[in-house]
Amino acid sequence: MENPTRTRCSVLIVGAGISGITAAKVLAENGVDDVVILEAADRIGGRIRKEEFGGVTVELGAGWIAGVGGKQMNPVWELAGRSNLRTCFSDYSNARYNIYDNTGKIFPSGVAAESYNKAVESAIAKLRNQDSDNPGDDETTTGPRSPIDLAIDFILHDFEMAEVEPISTYVDFGEKEFLVADERGYEHLLYKMAETFLFTQQGKILDTRLKLNKVVRKLQHSRNGVTVKTEDDCIYEAQYVILSASIGVLQSNLNISFSPPLPRWKTEAISNIDIMVYTKVFLKFPHKFWPCGPDKEFFIYAHERRGYYTFWQHMENAYPGSNILVVTLTNGESQRIEAQSDEETMREAMEVLRNMFGHDIPDAVDILVPRWWNNRFQRGSYSNYPIYVDRQLVDDIKAPVGRIFFTGEHTSEKFNGYVHGGYLSGVETTKALLEEMLAEKERKTENHQSFLLEPLSALSDAVFDIPKQLFLRTSNLGFLKAIL
Ligand SMILES: Cc1cc2nc3c(=O)[nH]c(=O)nc-3n(C[C@H](O)[C@H](O)[C@H](O)COP(=O)(O)OP(=O)(O)OC[C@H]3O[C@@H](n4cnc5c(N)ncnc54)[C@H](O)[C@@H]3O)c2cc1C
Repeated sequence: MENPTRTRCSVLIVGAGISGITAAKVLAENGVDDVVILEAADRIGGRIRKEEFGGVTVELGAGWIAGVGGKQMNPVWELAGRSNLRTCFSDYSNARYNIYDNTGKIFPSGVAAESYNKAVESAIAKLRNQDSDNPGDDETTTGPRSPIDLAIDFILHDFEMAEVEPISTYVDFGEKEFLVADERGYEHLLYKMAETFLFTQQGKILDTRLKLNKVVRKLQHSRNGVTVKTEDDCIYEAQYVILSASIGVLQSNLNISFSPPLPRWKTEAISNIDIMVYTKVFLKFPHKFWPCGPDKEFFIYAHERRGYYTFWQHMENAYPGSNILVVTLTNGESQRIEAQSDEETMREAMEVLRNMFGHDIPDAVDILVPRWWNNRFQRGSYSNYPIYVDRQLVDDIKAPVGRIFFTGEHTSEKFNGYVHGGYLSGVETTKALLEEMLAEKERKTENHQSFLLEPLSALSDAVFDIPKQLFLRTSNLGFLKAIL
């Protein structure tokens, strides 16, 4: 049990996912070491999470480094390179030519191409209608009906066009995607970052500034500082808080409360951003029975119910001989399978596989079903901005409220939903916080008499002792500029 006395620090970070760890690293690089990181789970990483399954390491959360090979270097790709993370190139583009019907026949490529073009035209028409504030006045907006059209609609909207074109990730960083296939997991990148500023030994973080299993329940904030209460009744006092909890957590009433409550502009921005649930179900087999040649990594099942075990991937490219298939479900289907037993999900998946590959295929010997929706520290997989985002929403979602600074993938205007969005948001939020800390120090220096009366002097003054030049170190600003 932690000492019930109040712990004080300059900056308290809620959450040790990629954005929280990046924020702590940027603070450390700028001389702010008096930091506490509170993480609800018993590990760092958040939505970057590996697990051992079927003899290999699988990624339950983020799996790909998206946006590689362009003019600018994706910072996560750079981190992966420095850490020698093992990855393999992924090409979804052929998936639409591996579409099975429920008798195991593959649709001819011409039929698939026609359905694909129809879906793209319909999506564009839908966008035009929404643009003209006159939805539904075009016949092309009537939804897809046949199993193949539904399957194409699913991969187009829930995968390829889940974002509005042009997609900044591909424009800025390149169109290639690489699947992480490393037994240390995608999360290895976070440990590599953490070891540059936290005390670690043999790959374990032993630094007492990182506190795991600490569920933040209340943020009480005033113009002088923030008092943070955890579920186990510990109290932390900080001059500033960086809050990296996901949009799902912020939307959920079960989680963090604010006193005084967040202003309306902030709660509206939080509720205007959608949450996507994205679930990768892993199935282990005694041997493989699916095609593994070139362009066969991804395949699609066309069913009369949209998104019903539609998108499949084999793991032979990543881990040859692993005999693992992954099927991805989203949103309503994800929530449905999260609520049922894994045995039932295995039964449904096997029925679909038998429709595609015949009755002689072996039963799966193991299944892994992540539950991102029911995880109270996530409440979903990633944020999805509305098709038309107004400037105000973007500004409001990332704007601080007093001394509480918001970060996380959902605050990244260009890269929300991605690991690099989380990383860059951590950098950007911390840059804004450092500027505010510097401005506060200047205000205090200007009025040093009021500084003597400053009621908060009881709180840690470490941050005010940081020499100004630390903030202005050209190398640090260069670092920030290079990344932003
Ligand atoms: C299934 C899935 C697939 C994905 N695929 C990809 C992909 O292929 N490529 C890609 O780039 N991105 C992908 N993403 C998105 C990517 O994982 C996220 O954008 C990114 O990891 C988010 O990082 P974050 O720091 O913003 O949030 P998080 O990782 O969620 O970190 C927030 C942390 O806050 C903690 N927390 C929450 N509430 C509290 C509390 N009350 N008190 C204390 N701590 C709290 C959480 O436990 C968590 O550790 C995927 C995500 C999922 C779930």
